[in-house]
Amino acid sequence: MEHSPWPVVERGPDGTITLAAGAGVTESVVRDLANGAAPPPPFTVRTLAPLPAVPPGERAITVDQTNHSVIAGEAVVVKWFPAPSRAPHPAPAVLAHLAGFASVAAPYAVIFWEDALVALVTAYLPGSRDGWEWCVDEAAAGRTGFASDLGRLAAELHAATAAPSATFPDPVRLPPRPDFAARAEGALREALSLTDGDDGDWLARHAGELRAELAPLAGAGRTPLIHIHGDLHVGQVLQWRGGYAVVDFDGNPTVAEAEAFQPAARDLAQLLTSLDHVGQVTVLRRSADPAATAAWVRSARSETRTAYENGLADAGRADLLDRSLLRPFEVEQECRELIYAARHLPRWRYAPMGVLRGWFA
Ligand code: ADP
Ligand code: MG
Ligand code: MG
Repeated sequence: MEHSPWPVVERGPDGTITLAAGAGVTESVVRDLANGAAPPPPFTVRTLAPLPAVPPGERAITVDQTNHSVIAGEAVVVKWFPAPSRAPHPAPAVLAHLAGFASVAAPYAVIFWEDALVALVTAYLPGSRDGWEWCVDEAAAGRTGFASDLGRLAAELHAATAAPSATFPDPVRLPPRPDFAARAEGALREALSLTDGDDGDWLARHAGELRAELAPLAGAGRTPLIHIHGDLHVGQVLQWRGGYAVVDFDGNPTVAEAEAFQPAARDLAQLLTSLDHVGQVTVLRRSADPAATAAWVRSARSETRTAYENGLADAGRADLLDRSLLRPFEVEQECRELIYAARHLPRWRYAPMGVLRGWFA
């Protein structure tokens, strides 16, 4: 039987896989999914919910992104992974676990090539803008009213994550404390080795101060672990006519095969540092006043954190946040931003460097 076009997948000599979804492929795959047509082997499809009727047409999403998302028929988003991995991917399980949680883009299907996840198919949220747009607008205008919604959204996500489901019957785990210190030290070392020039010199001079901020991670004590989002920054929070929604449950792109169960503080730390990054973006792209923007960052961070803590308390889950982890995780995250910039997006380096230079001025 002739198949309509599906992506071209190639296996390299080292076993790595690459995927290319050329023009028209997304539209064709979505049509097959909607019609229930069998995918061409070795593709397989796991359906999570029936697809709606999808009109013809496709257009690529063009914002900064790690993968390659394409909108089909203004109804469905297919996120193709250009470098699919055979390692277990967190998204299918966490999306199934969060089935009743309203503030995500509804998942429809998961596509595999052999055992590698190659695409996630979700509902398109019309008219949405991600936080690198909407939150930068708020910063440029000096408004922080969004912060109560943002903090509450993160708390609701964590409370939903902490509720048992068939996928995760024991969603809150309390193992002996994992080696957070070694993971953070690894990130610092990698950031030091990947960052060159003046920025690299500055980092090397401040490595001692950065290590001192990471030191509390070596302390003993258990902390509850949940299946965190793993890459929770404002760019993953879409503002659309239905409110806010969280997308992109791929985990942190700088941590290979990260353990998905982590302290809630990791997501909150990343979300808060992303407000610092919004400040950097706003000064650079909107020529905003640096002092006024720094004041906005302080307020936005503090209001987001308060709303998060209140949201957790209202859900009866204040136990999920171990505050002692927040600052060290923020510092680790800034190292990860430098790693991400070095590996994927060199022009991003100014943002984490601006934040670090501000913190350790
Ligand atoms: P990546 O892993 O490549 O970062 P994301 O899942 O974050 O992929 O999607 C990339 C971008 O596509 C988002 O920042 C957002 O702008 C847009 N996007 C993602 N999902 C949706 C959706 N369901 N509806 C509308 N836009 C979306
Ligand atoms: Mg991602
Ligand atoms: Mg993303």
